[in-house]
Amino acid sequence: MRRALLCVLAVACLAGAAPKKPKLVLAIVVDQFRYDYLVRFRSEYHGGLARLLSQGAVFTNAGYIHVPAVTAVGHSTVLTGATPSISGIVANDWFDRDEGVHVTSVSDSHTQLLGGTGTGSSPNRLLVSTIGDELKMAAAGQPRVIGVSLKDRAAILPSGHMADGAFWFDTKSGNFVSSTYYYHSLPAWVEQFNTPRPTDRYRGVAWLGHKMPDDNAGLFQEIEVSPFGNELVEAFAERALAAERLGTREFTDLLTVSFSSNDYVGHRYGPDSPEVRQTALATDRLLEKLFQAVDERVGAGNYLVVFTADHGVAPVPEVNVARKMPGGRIDPAAIKAAVQTALVKKYGAGEWVAGAWDLAVYLNRETVARWKLDLAEVESEAARAIQALPHISRVYTLEEMKRGWGVRDSVSQKVANGYHLRRGPDIELIPDPYWIVGAAIATTHATPYSYDTHVPVIFLGPGIRPGLYHTPIAVNDIAPTLATLLEIETPSGSVGRPLTEILLN
Ligand SMILES: [Zn+2]
Repeated sequence: MRRALLCVLAVACLAGAAPKKPKLVLAIVVDQFRYDYLVRFRSEYHGGLARLLSQGAVFTNAGYIHVPAVTAVGHSTVLTGATPSISGIVANDWFDRDEGVHVTSVSDSHTQLLGGTGTGSSPNRLLVSTIGDELKMAAAGQPRVIGVSLKDRAAILPSGHMADGAFWFDTKSGNFVSSTYYYHSLPAWVEQFNTPRPTDRYRGVAWLGHKMPDDNAGLFQEIEVSPFGNELVEAFAERALAAERLGTREFTDLLTVSFSSNDYVGHRYGPDSPEVRQTALATDRLLEKLFQAVDERVGAGNYLVVFTADHGVAPVPEVNVARKMPGGRIDPAAIKAAVQTALVKKYGAGEWVAGAWDLAVYLNRETVARWKLDLAEVESEAARAIQALPHISRVYTLEEMKRGWGVRDSVSQKVANGYHLRRGPDIELIPDPYWIVGAAIATTHATPYSYDTHVPVIFLGPGIRPGLYHTPIAVNDIAPTLATLLEIETPSGSVGRPLTEILLN
């Protein structure tokens, strides 16, 4: 009897010691936000980033452990903890061998856009669960899960399969849109957000000498490449918070917000430009605006923020060369041409390349079959042609990845983590450090190097021990940490570890 009573008391004490669960998890991803943007502009941050840096648990050495470091892959990692080898999100675009077509990470021909015209998008290519899915599955679907961004993939992949809604900006209509995957028709509050044409106020407005076009088509495109795109995302997130009454019930809700303008600005102007600095400072102010809205609606101390980025970016090669650093450009067309020329010469006429994106080359399997060739041999021939190009550091083939081949170092490990054996490319190439695969843009990202993979990770809220943490961690550690805090199952593909050093209990 006494023992039983003691046990009851002990359980009660344990329960009492556990911090109360947050009413809301606010997951913020800034698209293309290198870790060094936190420290380089630190003295100029007075808003949300300053709040995160001064009150949060700040990881100074967080990074991605996969290649390619691009938007879809980063966004699919943050709340799943999975690598592309498991999640199946291997790139922004790839060649789907089952469908025989070029697909995007979220393209779904069975869906329609809501609020715009054309085909919609869905999380159907994501093979694993997200934190939102686990929250939903643990409580009979009652927690609310919403994703917001300018980009479809950045709204859909963090929020997951069971999300109530994902919303993104449509440059054709200037509306925030969703897809029939989530709804039969656009929720009324989204219609009400779109109706007063929130893009109109930016017509003709300039920032750092860049004037927004007057015509709709130009305006909707250029808004994305300016801090104004992030303003729209923030305003929409506030509206979602209010309309969906997030964080006001007995369950933990999830709102994922991805700010995309930093990426568009970074690609056009480069990480050392005044434009990138200005956009980072504007992001700091917008985050504070969003935090204040959540403070008001959910209550300070009742919500948990996790902040990160989906990838970094390389310096503009010409900027690097001018400061005596290495760097240069590899024309993606030259890679494709090298493979095509080599295979025609060796095996005969035909279309040999099905597609090439970022660091990936997909062979045309029909041509390989028509000539009755061994795929592994053709891949090796193509790899040799790419390796012969200047400033190619490494080349990997799918057959080699299947056999577990590779130099045993961190680059090969990142390539292996990024390689899904059904969806991965026939050849993956790694350029020399500071060399980018891209011709039409100032700079880009994708490689395993630190400028592309070193990103901020900050937690702030109940149950979190604030401070600076210098131990290297992976972005994949976010999801198991949240699962531990929220007392839910770890997402199905997670390879991360719970960051126990930041947990108060
Ligand atoms: Zn990008």
